[in-house]
Amino acid sequence: MDYFNYKNDELYAEDLKVSALAEQFGTPLYIYSKATLVRHMRAFEEALAGRKHLICYAVKANANLSLLSLMKSLGAGFDVVSEGELRRVLQIGADPARIIFSGVGKSRAELTLAVNTGIGCINVESEPELELLSQICAELKKPARIALRVNPDVDAKTHPSISTGLKSNKFGIAIDAALPLYQRIAADPYLQVSGIDCHIGSQMTSNAPIAEATEKLLNLYGQLEEAGINVDHIDVGGGLGVTYNDETPPSPYDYLAAVLKRVGQREVSVYVEPGRAMVANAGILVCEALYIKKTAVKNFCIVDAGMNDLIRPALYNSWMNIIECRKNQGEKMLCDVVGPICESDDFLGHDRKLAVQAGDLLAVRGAGAYGMSMASNYNARRLPCEILVDGDKAQVIRRRQDFADLWAQEELLPF
Ligand SMILES: *Cc1c(COP(=O)(O)O)cnc(C)c1O
Repeated sequence: MDYFNYKNDELYAEDLKVSALAEQFGTPLYIYSKATLVRHMRAFEEALAGRKHLICYAVKANANLSLLSLMKSLGAGFDVVSEGELRRVLQIGADPARIIFSGVGKSRAELTLAVNTGIGCINVESEPELELLSQICAELKKPARIALRVNPDVDAKTHPSISTGLKSNKFGIAIDAALPLYQRIAADPYLQVSGIDCHIGSQMTSNAPIAEATEKLLNLYGQLEEAGINVDHIDVGGGLGVTYNDETPPSPYDYLAAVLKRVGQREVSVYVEPGRAMVANAGILVCEALYIKKTAVKNFCIVDAGMNDLIRPALYNSWMNIIECRKNQGEKMLCDVVGPICESDDFLGHDRKLAVQAGDLLAVRGAGAYGMSMASNYNARRLPCEILVDGDKAQVIRRRQDFADLWAQEELLPF
């Protein structure tokens, strides 16, 4: 559920008319709804109520500082996957103890910053990473709390590009190889065992994969217990899906109930790392139809937002809902909604039925996750503006780039 709804045939973001916001801030424009974010965060909190837990918002889904700050104010911790993301959450004053660091290729510099900052947990993804971390801690004479990200070999039943928990994926440590590595950590003078972690994929629309993964993590938990190694948390990762089209993902409550049921009375904290489920439906991308181009084989609705603004359709062939910002009685036309970029894959949607004319506004729903965070300057297009709506107030949380921003880091050689 979100707060982008029609009233009298006009699309609203909470209490504000989307068309008026587009007029004021220009297009392409990302609009986020604060009430939706609050609602999603509460849903996760309620799902974990009564149990020690940490909700680590996966920063890569949308890393805007104001959104991070909002998440922090609602009690979230953070899952980061790079030094840049770690610095972003430190920038908004996140409590280091509530930051966890994931990622298959953390550099020495990144691990050093994580150790010096004293973050809550480093999710280690390979034996050589563990060795490097051990060396860094010894040099700095500082401890580090660690979880191993294990690969439970579970099929997340999602798009292959966003499936991460299979043996053939680059992520994590094979679960049957984890025990000796935990013994290695327990014997290290600086490293501390903190948790068992996994993240098996994204846009999961059933409970079955996470339930299966949880069982495998708990099996390892039992082996560690027998070996006298104490684990303080189980981290089931992110990956809960959202409705883009007709998917029917479980609610956070049902999804986590499947996890909690299996964890039972064990004395462990439960961590989750939701990204998409937190922000996808809290954001829309608004664009303007520039031209309607009718050809012998197809109609094209050419809009002013492209794959540089929102790459999910081009990258994963994702279906995203495109709607009119003002419903009208005009005739619906079957068309491809495409951007201005010089790539045939630059599209937002194929074969859509829209009543749209040049100058009309369209909104792509579900654009809050992996939209702006994957945006680029390709074709020397400026990154779009982002605004946050709260009731009848709208505030810029990222201004549209200036053209001079496009070349600000370049050196012009004097030829
Ligand atoms: C991307 C990612 C997440 C978030 O995934 P969503 O599908 O957006 O919930 C969580 N944990 C890790 C390690 C990730 O890489």
